[in-house]
Amino acid sequence: MMDSPFHLVSDFDGVWTEPARELQEVHTTLVQELAALTARSVPQVEEDVAGFIQIIRQKPECFGWRIEGRFSSYVDEDYFALPTAVGQFLEDATSGPEKIYLDALLSRHESALDFLDSCYHATCDRFRSDVKHDLTRGAERVLEWLLSHHVRITFVSNAPSGKIIDWFAANGHEVLDGRDPVSHGRPLRAYGRAGKQFLSHDPQSLTLGGRKVQGDRPEYLALLEQENPDMVIGDVLSLDLALPLWMRQEKHPAAPTGIALMHLKHSPDWVTREIGKTPHAPDFLVPHVTSLPRLVTQVRRMKSAALASV
Ligand SMILES: [Mg+2]
Repeated sequence: MMDSPFHLVSDFDGVWTEPARELQEVHTTLVQELAALTARSVPQVEEDVAGFIQIIRQKPECFGWRIEGRFSSYVDEDYFALPTAVGQFLEDATSGPEKIYLDALLSRHESALDFLDSCYHATCDRFRSDVKHDLTRGAERVLEWLLSHHVRITFVSNAPSGKIIDWFAANGHEVLDGRDPVSHGRPLRAYGRAGKQFLSHDPQSLTLGGRKVQGDRPEYLALLEQENPDMVIGDVLSLDLALPLWMRQEKHPAAPTGIALMHLKHSPDWVTREIGKTPHAPDFLVPHVTSLPRLVTQVRRMKSAALASV
């Protein structure tokens, strides 16, 4: 029997890639930029930043990707939120070495967040020119399986579309830009710079594992409404999954049947604790992208069981 069509919306970094190397490079850029701005030595800045990170890690619920006073993601769940959390720490500085860094970066940038964005984007561009791809082991094999089993994949990521397109092209797979109308209905598409982090002026949140996560993400919502996926997968609970979980709780017509979280080495206890146990938590904790064939098969069954019961 032919498999029924299935549509997977997937995050990119942390699901299909190994982001540790790129994060290390963002850190290096951050230190070099701060050294240049303050005329301090790189080892001195390294030492200061290590001290800031130590303070940040002691209170992960108070640091992360803070946008207009709310946390779009937390530092302990999100690889790329660590440099951003350093920016947040500097932004709140009133005295000490951190105030020196803040004053120095504000002489060149509108805000600490703006400075961190520029470090992230500059590194990301340089990294892409240095490495052909950093896809995780087994990614190609999984992609082949999914495509041969009638699964369409739409990548929705804050990385630029070009990164996703180029990295898969290095393995002979054509990913089309999701914003290009010719891509509609095609098996592999990508929406880069998807703005998943942006929140609305109408706060909606869920509490998971004792942490408040934000569900109102208008740019991401518009994409999910348009794409109407059967399943969503991501590695950052707040950024990737809080919205689909909120949609399911609100019985939104575009809410996905399956919601899956990638289990990474650093995934904190609060994100994994309730998985599969409450309706507003993710259904699956995924050990590696190579588990996707099993999960897709399972969600396909959930979907046909739900259709049969209508
Ligand atoms: Mg990710």
